[in-house]
Amino acid sequence: MAFILRFEDGRALDRPLGKIVCVGRNYAAHAHELDNPVPEAPLIFIKPATSAIPIDEQLALRFDLGEIHYEAELAVLITAPLSRVAEHEVASAIGGIGLALDLTLRDVQSELKAKGYPWELAKAFDGACPLGPFIAVDGAAVDWRDLRFGLDIDDESRQRGHSAEMLFPVLGLIAHMSQRFTLEPGDVVLTGTPKGVGKLAVGQRLRLTLGEEQHLETRIV
Ligand code: ZN
Repeated sequence: MAFILRFEDGRALDRPLGKIVCVGRNYAAHAHELDNPVPEAPLIFIKPATSAIPIDEQLALRFDLGEIHYEAELAVLITAPLSRVAEHEVASAIGGIGLALDLTLRDVQSELKAKGYPWELAKAFDGACPLGPFIAVDGAAVDWRDLRFGLDIDDESRQRGHSAEMLFPVLGLIAHMSQRFTLEPGDVVLTGTPKGVGKLAVGQRLRLTLGEEQHLETRIV
């Protein structure tokens, strides 16, 4: 079943979710907490559309696959094609901002990293990308260096992100991605996670916030 991209007002985008292009280690403090070097170029990977599930419901996750870690991230909805574009051409192709969890099987990822293997088994499984509804934006009017978001679990603050701290800021990052992957309307970009990642467990209540504009609540089942 195709994942329907929705806006906060309930309106659906006129096409289904495409691919989800992600960046690893885009916040220095998060790279350090996992003992990873800070990258010189963006570390890019892709989650398939089949990994997406709506965030604003209960999250039924695959705990049979191993320990699942949350990574709260700012999500950007692409609404016009982008292929090998310069940074100044990106904003006009952005139609929404939202929140996502880049769920990761951390033990599986550690094994794959040690072997030098691709990360798909740890990052691309069914349910690995809970996605919230998007706030419709005119990308050109957004201050991409001043977006704040956060994740609380059971009323305890876990992650706080500020886009000013990104090693590769949103517009330049998307321009970089477009050099290799044509981005199409319905594609989503995940912009990396700040420090504070950790393990999920059944019964936890998650609250994600995007500035003052959006509050999402869900529960792990
Ligand atoms: Zn991530």
